[in-house]
Amino acid sequence: MGDPYAPFGIHNGLQSTPMASDDPAMAEASPLARPVGRLKGVSAARARELESRGVRTLGDLIEYFPRTYQNERAECPIDRLVPRDLQIARGEVTAVDYIASYPRPRFEATIEDPTGRLGLVWFNGGYLRRLIHPGQILRVQGKVRFYRNIPQMTQPKWQVVEPDAAPVGEDLLRAVYPASAKLSSRAIWHIIDANIEAALEGIEEWFDAELLRKRNLMGRRQAFRAIHQPAHWREATDARRRLIYDELMLMQIGLILSRRLRGGRLSAPRMRIDRLLDERIRRRFPFALTAAQERAVRQVVADLQNPRPMSRLLQGDVGSGKTVVAVYAMLVTVANRLQAALLAPTEVLAEQHYLTLTDLLRESRVTIELFTSLTQRRGRGSLRRHLADGDIHIAVGTQALLQEDVEFANLGLVVVDEQHKLGVRQRAQLKSKGHAPHYLVMTATPIPRTLALSYFADFDVTTIDELPPGRQPILTRWLKPQEEAQAWHFVREQVAAGRQAYIVLPQIEEDGAGEARSVKAEFERLGSGPLAGLRLAMLHGQMKTDQKQQTMNDFRAGRIDAVITTTVIEVGIDVANATVMVIQNAERFGLSQLHQLRGRVGRGTHQSHCLLIGEAVNEDAELRLRAMTRTNDGFEIAESDLKLRGPGEFFGTRQHGLPQFKLADITQEIELLHQAKDDALALIESDPNLRRPEHRTLRAAVARQFGENLFLAQVG
Ligand code: ADP
Ligand code: MG
Repeated sequence: MGDPYAPFGIHNGLQSTPMASDDPAMAEASPLARPVGRLKGVSAARARELESRGVRTLGDLIEYFPRTYQNERAECPIDRLVPRDLQIARGEVTAVDYIASYPRPRFEATIEDPTGRLGLVWFNGGYLRRLIHPGQILRVQGKVRFYRNIPQMTQPKWQVVEPDAAPVGEDLLRAVYPASAKLSSRAIWHIIDANIEAALEGIEEWFDAELLRKRNLMGRRQAFRAIHQPAHWREATDARRRLIYDELMLMQIGLILSRRLRGGRLSAPRMRIDRLLDERIRRRFPFALTAAQERAVRQVVADLQNPRPMSRLLQGDVGSGKTVVAVYAMLVTVANRLQAALLAPTEVLAEQHYLTLTDLLRESRVTIELFTSLTQRRGRGSLRRHLADGDIHIAVGTQALLQEDVEFANLGLVVVDEQHKLGVRQRAQLKSKGHAPHYLVMTATPIPRTLALSYFADFDVTTIDELPPGRQPILTRWLKPQEEAQAWHFVREQVAAGRQAYIVLPQIEEDGAGEARSVKAEFERLGSGPLAGLRLAMLHGQMKTDQKQQTMNDFRAGRIDAVITTTVIEVGIDVANATVMVIQNAERFGLSQLHQLRGRVGRGTHQSHCLLIGEAVNEDAELRLRAMTRTNDGFEIAESDLKLRGPGEFFGTRQHGLPQFKLADITQEIELLHQAKDDALALIESDPNLRRPEHRTLRAAVARQFGENLFLAQVG
């Protein structure tokens, strides 16, 4: 398998492509590989329709899961209908009539089955003239009254059924499938019904009875039947739970094996650290580490001393002081005569890190270089040479550091800041001669627990759950647009007290629609109006890199009172004297983004404020703005954001390899996810290459999903 980070989909182990199993003869024989065109009840037209929905084989078909279920009563022969009860009958339409009597016009029809005749009445049913015609077979549901000894239903629910559709013999919980105009849910139900026995023969158990008992899970075959044809709701729910468990297990096993593969192939440099080095490093920090930072440092240092490459996610709310941990690790690396790379998602942030580092390491022999598109253009030949020679100890940069074919002499540690903004694939591009570097991934968007457990299952997680001392919680207010004057008044007050402000806008220029404000227009408007006399500057992505740097430097030095900017300042900017964050058109920003932006203030000991100016344009926007005023807790924010947007959106793109599930919704399945993680670890520990006969099917499913190479790592 080439890239262990490659995106993968989870399909419960049944796949449309011919199977690459250990035993080709067995794969041939599996009924699940049968193409849909050869299945019972599937015409050529239906086969095409199924294929267009990704259902190519019997295996795909049985994984075409119901959306929901509906209760369906048994059909009753017309002569058995009794008064009052809600009942269902079926018959051929023999007559229709429209009675346009005032004030209640009505549409009437008669249906007949071999046992009798049933009258149907719909008041105000004029539209039915176009829909119900003699000759059709109708299935109707309603309460029966007898009118002159003829049974009659008023306002029945009705549907046209195909003449050869088998009657429903008993009460039924019927699966409802995602359907199209050409292929109804009911048609899909019948196709699955006709083929489910054959499909179930191909379903084999993945796990041993003991595990299933422990987790209270039904058998896999039973689950496939019950999800399509449950006897009752409880059974449908249990079936779903079992199959979700299987999806989660498959993913967890894949992640564990991929991690083993990465760890097994190359060993990382084993670093040494003693008390002297520890003291030397600590002397560089102008403050004592918080207990949480101490914990994180201890864990990272233990990892660096181990030849297994570190793969650690360091998460902590904005301002919790993650950089210190990274700097500590980088200095250990350099002291061990190895290089470290620090990757940031934006140039502004890379620059910020570069400045922090040069400041901390003043008068040391550590050489730090900044690699951005600008420095790359200027002197990239020589910079690259120094990197390859090992003259540069710490390289700070953006993806530019990866895109070019940059060689390191002896890369020992890669720190990635704000992981969710840097493609995982790109991380894998970082190469070093001879060994695998250690990885430290930092994120200030706290990864919600559920995602940490799934997507980051192959990472060890360290959480910094404490802010440096003296911080006061940021006070957040939500102002309606008509109240914005309050915000400008407040900015003036704070500037008069010697503080600084950020003013964030959703766009650089007006888009013509006039719906949202822009950096350029606000710069003009505020400068000549509400904030006249203040030293204002713009900072945005259309500016040249050195212009941006100049502005940031001026802001840091206090030569600017307020910067009017976009989300370029979203991550990592650190100016302790800035205490006000004003966000215009706040309704346009995502929740995590708002929280990130707010994290730009509250970095010093002064009380900080966040003013959200926005309109609750819809319920979502209202929820976001309310969440911001309710809590400062990044974890709570991230969990709400995940619920509002879903995991795909949360991370931006598919590139990040977020698994796609057919059934599981990892924001909902926290409990099961925990269990699957534990169970997958135990399973691989007891049978590292899934060689035991009872794991044969599971192994085939894993191999089909992730590639046979996943089992290549040496174990034991
Ligand atoms: P983040 O986790 O958001 O990356 P930073 O590492 O940028 O946070 O730290 C935020 C601010 O807190 C910085 O100004 C940093 O110097 C300061 N800081 C970090 N650790 C401590 C500490 N232990 N005591 C006091 N200030 C600290
Ligand atoms: Mg940071």
